[in-house]
Amino acid sequence: MLPERIEEWQGRTVVCFGAHPDDDLHAAGTFARLVDRGNAVHLVMYTNDDKGSMDRSITSERLAAIRKAEQEAAAARIGVPREHLHWLGHRDGELEYVDRRLLCRQVTAILRRLRPDAVFSFDPGARFEQWHKSDHRSAALATVDAIRAAHWHLYFPELLTEGLEPHEVPVCFFYDSREPNYFVDISDTIERKVAAFCCHVSQFGRRLHRYESELHPEDRARFEAAIPAYCASVGEPHGLAYAEAFRRSTEH
Ligand SMILES: [Zn+2]
Repeated sequence: MLPERIEEWQGRTVVCFGAHPDDDLHAAGTFARLVDRGNAVHLVMYTNDDKGSMDRSITSERLAAIRKAEQEAAAARIGVPREHLHWLGHRDGELEYVDRRLLCRQVTAILRRLRPDAVFSFDPGARFEQWHKSDHRSAALATVDAIRAAHWHLYFPELLTEGLEPHEVPVCFFYDSREPNYFVDISDTIERKVAAFCCHVSQFGRRLHRYESELHPEDRARFEAAIPAYCASVGEPHGLAYAEAFRRSTEH
């Protein structure tokens, strides 16, 4: 029987589906807590993030390689090993143009293979139409569609011949939600969340415009203040020093 509070889990498996490397930062403090208690955390990245730079000297190929290395470094900061990173390799910004059946089958196979006790992803709920990033909208919907397909054996029956038996995901934690109903105390892991964020050098601050391999010191100082301040604002109404917010759902 799964404890209702994920903070009490031990020896379980969770899988986070992000559109890009860095999307899992929404839950990085929670993942560090789960790793501390012996749970396996897997991160799936739908895209290779090969477009998000303002640096006119950079190519998509180089950017994808940079983003992959940054994600590996960030994951290591929260205790997730490289072999728990899964790259689907779709093009940044173009996820909604990928064949939906192929995408659903791809994610269904991952769910049936890893058999997670919980899935983390963007909230596919009311706000999705407002999201400026189509990949986030697309990833959220692809994830919940695959959760359904993973559960029912008549979806993609060819997966059965590969030994991928149906799997029901017991609970989802949706991040970036307008309707959060679950708050995780990340007071013990906020420093690791900040450290993970700061590994994504090419995504933020001055390096977004002109890439160098280290954050500008002023940007680093700004992030090291802003992220704890935001997490404090999330936790404050709930009596928590630092928190991450989710919409917990068992109806999906
Ligand atoms: Zn993203």
